[in-house]
Amino acid sequence: MKIPNGHEIIQLFEQFAPKSLAMEGDKIGLQIGRLNKKIERVMVALDVLENVIDEAIKKDVQLIIAHHPPIFRPLKNIVTDTTQGRMIEKLLKHDIAVYAAHTNLDVAKGGVNDWLAKALGIEDSEVLVPTIDTKLTKLVVFVPASHAEQIRHVLGEAGAGFIGRYSHCSFSTDGTGRFMPEEGTNPYIGQSGALEAVDEVRIETIVPEPLLKKTLSLMIKAHPYEEVAYDVYPLENKGEVLGLGRIGKVSEMTLAEFAEKVKTNLEVERVRVVGDLTSKVKKVAVLGGDGNKYFSHAKFKGADVYVTGDIYYHTAHDAMMQGLNIIDPGHNVEKVMKKGLTVTLQNMCKEAGFEVEIFPSEENTNPFQFI
Ligand SMILES: [Zn+2]
Repeated sequence: MKIPNGHEIIQLFEQFAPKSLAMEGDKIGLQIGRLNKKIERVMVALDVLENVIDEAIKKDVQLIIAHHPPIFRPLKNIVTDTTQGRMIEKLLKHDIAVYAAHTNLDVAKGGVNDWLAKALGIEDSEVLVPTIDTKLTKLVVFVPASHAEQIRHVLGEAGAGFIGRYSHCSFSTDGTGRFMPEEGTNPYIGQSGALEAVDEVRIETIVPEPLLKKTLSLMIKAHPYEEVAYDVYPLENKGEVLGLGRIGKVSEMTLAEFAEKVKTNLEVERVRVVGDLTSKVKKVAVLGGDGNKYFSHAKFKGADVYVTGDIYYHTAHDAMMQGLNIIDPGHNVEKVMKKGLTVTLQNMCKEAGFEVEIFPSEENTNPFQFI
């Protein structure tokens, strides 16, 4: 076990929620402070408000990973007797870095929207609003026959060779590899200056582009040769669709019953509901955050009810007229993010052998109260 630095933690995080998944114009990534330092404690927060910063100081945290970027519009100045200036000053003084993971964490497979779908017991969920078609590549590598099995295993474990619900897919052909080690080489087989012919296997598999870098580095590490011969081809095949929101099924109940379920499972006191409380719901769409823009996706895909935050009066009218029920738990809909990300990061760090404490912020940042 080793104490990681900030870059190492963020590298792990970005394998899970790469920046490339974010919506255009979103402000994500490192916003305040630095990553080139040892990190012993990470706090996961929904928002970075002053009470959250005070909590981070008290708990001696070196890095906050927040869902909502604390700096969204460009700053004109940093004046330390304004609230925002004072917050930045506090963070810098205590050497606390803030990293924002917003729509990339919403879109990520196993991210906010999947945590939300899971919390509401939605099964067989698919993406509600597609935003990204993952590009696929074909990876071909030439391996001495003795190591073919091992390389196929490494490729499969890296996530290459996924076709539908089949993992570890590959195709192998036997052949002869020829090479002449030049002077100054240290060949695994053969000698400098002599033409060598070796029984090799050509292994080919399919790799989604986001996994390519990691797959290549693991493959090269496991390969016995000094110079690994491999090719990467772009493919026209359609890859996995990623995006915002999820839609799937729950066991049939009334809208009123489902609204109660949302309250209990998302731990919110009150929800706003649009629609006939006695109508039946079975197909449920969810979208973390503000889902006003996407209600027609929910209608189009046949949802009986749409669970999202911050619904406007006029969106509610439009939905009502189209016969789409809505449950709005406010921005609380994203509460699941703190626990979800904490557990995900803890598991990743444990697997990487990092000794670091990761915990959710306990401060409440919801500005609304119900009286
Ligand atoms: Zn949000």
